[in-house]
This record gives sequence, structure tokens and C-alpha cells, in this order.
Amino acid sequence: MRIDLHTHSVASDGTDTPAALVEAASAAGLDVVAITDHDTASGWVEAEEAARRTGIELVRGMEISTRHEGVGVHLLAYLPDPGHPALDEALSKILAGRNSRVPAMLERLRGLGIAIEASDVRRVAPGTAATGRPHVADALVDLGVVADRTEAFRRFLNPGRPAYVDRYAASLLETMDVVAQAGGVCVIAHPWGRHGPHEPDEATLAELTEAGLAGIEVDHQDHDAHDRERLRAIAGNLGLLVTGSSDYHGMGKRDHDLGCNTTAPEEYARLLELAAAAAQRSGRAAPGVVRP
Ligand code: AMP
Ligand code: ZN
Ligand code: FE
Ligand code: FE
Repeated sequence: MRIDLHTHSVASDGTDTPAALVEAASAAGLDVVAITDHDTASGWVEAEEAARRTGIELVRGMEISTRHEGVGVHLLAYLPDPGHPALDEALSKILAGRNSRVPAMLERLRGLGIAIEASDVRRVAPGTAATGRPHVADALVDLGVVADRTEAFRRFLNPGRPAYVDRYAASLLETMDVVAQAGGVCVIAHPWGRHGPHEPDEATLAELTEAGLAGIEVDHQDHDAHDRERLRAIAGNLGLLVTGSSDYHGMGKRDHDLGCNTTAPEEYARLLELAAAAAQRSGRAAPGVVRP
């Protein structure tokens, strides 16, 4: 069984439509794929239809932009009821924060002499619910300013570069609570990004486990072999699930091919058990997996 639990579509900043993403996952030989767009469930319906057509198992999830003690944390929420009012409200606030920072980034770019307008961003990102730096990068590619997203981030959009603008992120603990109320399961995505410090550390992860965290994404391209071993040991100590995934963004991110990291079947089975228990506790009509 090959299981990939973190991918993006054009509903956020991937480059495949949700249907194309699911079809690509099936063609790549995956048995299970999760769609986890940033801060939105807007790709779920199309992904579900494609999963039924192609016969792949689909987990519906999302990657929520949160912050904990000043550190940005991407929270993977699997199988929550997206219609839960508190979840919907939390996501709406994050999406509003994403939209409101775009003009500020464009203003900075214009300050550097680059003629770029909001319409240039809209043109390259027609399907997105979650506008982000990758779309500004795509607009810069489209305008011939840079060759690809990587160059756009390196020159303009990474923290410390001239067009970087911070945005609103939700409180991690509050969001974990909301996801639980919505019947979902929480896993921290790429807890130690390649360029960041080793935060959240083990003590923080222990506190988060107390607060209901179910797992951590250990096998991710942003973690080198040494960090993977350390994170695996921490997960073992804390009784957390270990997941692995590609964080696929289509053509939008190099070296993140579907299935490049995978989740062990036993870990996936445990995740589904936790999801079933969370759904029952919440009393919500949580979505469940789509089985062929
Ligand atoms: P945002 O959420 O708008 O701040 O943008 C963050 C997104 O940009 C994440 O999904 C990252 O995967 C993506 N990203 C960050 N650095 C790069 C890069 N060098 N090339 C392509 N995508 C990137
Ligand atoms: Zn992304
Ligand atoms: Fe992420
Ligand atoms: Fe991601």
C-alpha cells in the first residue's frame, strides 16, 4: 500500500486541478492520497468525483496556517466537517488575511520598479481560494521578471527579501480545538522546515500532544535524514503517529513528486481509527474517506 497524505491543487497553490491531482496520484501508483490545500476545502468535491472515477482512496483534509509562540506551524487537519461554523469562521479569517496582504506585496514590487497589478495575480490563479506568495511568483514568471517560482522566492518573496509581507495565522491551540469540534484529526506538517530552527521542540510537542495532537509528518522533503530520525524518536516517546508525504504542488515545487515520501499502512490505519473516534465525539457528520 502506498499512501501519500499531503498534496496541493489549484484550490490553493498547486498547479493541478483537484481532478488532475487525483488522476496523477492514481497514475503514480498510489493507493491512498490526501488532498490538503492551504486553508480551504474547496477542492474536495471535484477530488471526490475523480477518486470515484479512478478508484483511488481519497482522504479529505486541509493544511491550516497557524502560529504557536511566534513560530509558524502548518497544521494538517484530516477529515473534519468543513461545514462546522467555528472551522468555517477560522478559515475565512485566514483567507481574508491572505487576500489583504497581496496588495502590500504588489506595492513593494512596484517600489522595485516592477509593473505588476492585482489583475496579473488573478490571471495566473483563477481557481484558488487561498491566494499566496506562489501566485505572486507565478505572476512574476508570467510577466517575464523571473524564470520560475524558485527564483521569485529567492529574489523577492522569502522572509528577508524585499517583497515579503507577513500575514495573519490562527492560534495553533485554538485551531486544534476547532478541528476536534469538527470531528477531524490534527497532524503537524513538516514540523522542522529545512531552513528553520528545530522548533517546535520536544517539550512543545509534548504539550501539543496533551492538547490533542495526533501525529507529526516526519518523512518530508524539508527534513534531512538526521532530523527524520530525531522526529521519529520524539513521536515514539510521545505516542504520536508518524506520517510521510510528498507535499506535492504539481509544477509549483521542485523535488516534491507524488509518493516521494509515504505513510506506513499501520500509521494510516491508526489515523483512520482516531478520525472515526473524533467524528463520533464531535457529533458532526464528518466526511470519512472516499473508498473505491
Ligand atoms: P504563503 O502561504 O502565501 O506564505 O506561501 C507559502 C507557500 O509557498 C507554501 O505552500 C510553500 O510550499 C510555497 N513555497 C515556499 N518557498 C517556495 C519556493 N522556493 N518555491 C516554490 N514554492 C515555495
Ligand atoms: Zn503550498
Ligand atoms: Fe506547509
Ligand atoms: Fe503543503
